[in-house]
Amino acid sequence: MDRIGKKETRLKGIAASPGIAIGPVYLFRKHEPTIQTRTIEPEEIEKEINRLQNSLARSKKEVTKVLDFAENKLGRDQSKIFEAQLLLLEDMVLFEEIFKRLRNERKNAEYLVQDEMEKYHRLMMASHDQYTRERAEDLLDVENRILRNLEEQKLVSRIDGSRVIVTHNLAAADALIFSRNEVMAYVTEIGGATSHMALLARALKIPAVVGAHQISLLASTDDNIIVDGYDGTIVLYPGPDTTEHYEKKKEQYHIFEETLAPLRDLPAETLDGHCIKLAANVELEEELEFIKMQGADGIGLYRTESLLLGEEVFPSEEEQYKIYYRIAESVYPKDAIIRTFDIGGDKFMSQSIKEHNPFLGWRGVRVMLDKPQVFLDQLRAILRASSKKNVAILLPMVTNIKEVQLTKQLLEQAKDDLRARKIAFDERIKLGVMVEVPAAAITADHLGHEVDFLSIGTNDLIQYLLAVDRGNDIVSDLFQEFHPAVIRFLRRIIERGKQKRTWVGMCGQMAGNPLATILLIGLGLDELSVVPNAVPEIKKIIRSIHYTEAIHVAERVLMMQSEDEIISYLKNLMKRKFPDIPIE
Ligand code: PEP
Ligand code: MG
Repeated sequence: MDRIGKKETRLKGIAASPGIAIGPVYLFRKHEPTIQTRTIEPEEIEKEINRLQNSLARSKKEVTKVLDFAENKLGRDQSKIFEAQLLLLEDMVLFEEIFKRLRNERKNAEYLVQDEMEKYHRLMMASHDQYTRERAEDLLDVENRILRNLEEQKLVSRIDGSRVIVTHNLAAADALIFSRNEVMAYVTEIGGATSHMALLARALKIPAVVGAHQISLLASTDDNIIVDGYDGTIVLYPGPDTTEHYEKKKEQYHIFEETLAPLRDLPAETLDGHCIKLAANVELEEELEFIKMQGADGIGLYRTESLLLGEEVFPSEEEQYKIYYRIAESVYPKDAIIRTFDIGGDKFMSQSIKEHNPFLGWRGVRVMLDKPQVFLDQLRAILRASSKKNVAILLPMVTNIKEVQLTKQLLEQAKDDLRARKIAFDERIKLGVMVEVPAAAITADHLGHEVDFLSIGTNDLIQYLLAVDRGNDIVSDLFQEFHPAVIRFLRRIIERGKQKRTWVGMCGQMAGNPLATILLIGLGLDELSVVPNAVPEIKKIIRSIHYTEAIHVAERVLMMQSEDEIISYLKNLMKRKFPDIPIE
């Protein structure tokens, strides 16, 4: 029970941005317009047109403000979605039609805006393509904005004091506008850890939990809430013991994070001298400074798909080159591993083909091999950025050796093109394959023979191995990093990969899970590439253990039969060895 007698209620959502917040709720209910259909008199037509024009102008002003704010705070890449919203507001075809109907049918503006925009929205929502559905969310946001301004309702952007924003769904624009207040955390009922809003929360360093079902029905403004953005726990009406527990956890994290600063420039080396390459995963250029501050040993995965967010066409070789060059330059002389576009599945970019099972469809290297000109542009751009010899290429979603061989042929072609243009590049640029499909895992020795390194992508590997959709919160408890099958599979990949003297790393989410670090080192990984936030903590663990001990831990875990057994063994181990690391 909390102080006012409500029963403590726990909910589990998806951790979307790290940090702990304890404070009062602000329940945000988005203005839901109720649209009445009205016939207007002929003499009212001009007034109605004026009203709509004013609403459009006000809406544009609001979105421009959001866009400016986003550009200042987050940089251009993260702001593209708002550019897309502005373009929608300037869509001549759509609004010409509304004005035409207003004159001909003499209906009120609210009705016509909703009618026309709903038509677009229905079409977009019916699409099997994730990107188009995401754009549909933007369209709805724009429609609501126009309707709210027609009704001359004010935009909710100010809240009193420090608050946890709780809502059904939060548009990226709203998350950004709210962040101008003292937002302690965001909690939403829907959305995934890779939604725009989650990306924004991470960039703004505000804790967030998404997928917390029913939260907006259970919580009211001013209720006390605890949000744990490390593991996705939400506690409503927390009792004094729970509050104390989380205050302690927050403080522990705070103290622990302070102890990490001195490790920044030290290598990720075990007490008995075994070195691990501890790199960072990067999605946005804005993260580059941060990963340097965190003491990462270069970039182990740069997800180039982020360049396609909100774009209709692929960026040119020149545009890509400039970005890859800046990335390579920013970590030089450390390495930057650039992954070729991993589109399809749940990732961006509009495609004309509708797929029933996009995760089993046209994805990653399959798309690129079907679009050789696009692939060549990207390969040339990466090659050009490699002239200082600190760049490597990584291929996503490889399932067979032919895909690697065809890529190598294209890479040779790209090199020939550049030689003909007398442009410098690294002649011996390294090529790696992501092991994220069971077929690649089982043939890791053959793939390893073809390339210079392997990088295990656990986010996809686990989804394909355990038959659990990585983005489906209904089965998220079955997405088990510590399933014995996953651990045994990792062992096989590492052993087989290394038979050919290839180095084997991991860039999936699991690499950044501190509970897994000792085990992963013991299984024999050479490299871990982790979310930038996790670098210092993982480095601390590596620097505090013996490699021989890690091998022993891995051997014990390999004999265990259930996820529960493995987790409880690792938790006990961590509690004993690292009492200051707050692992639940
Ligand atoms: C993975 O699948 O583990 C991975 C790193 O790739 P992504 O999450 O971008 O699919
Ligand atoms: Mg993947």
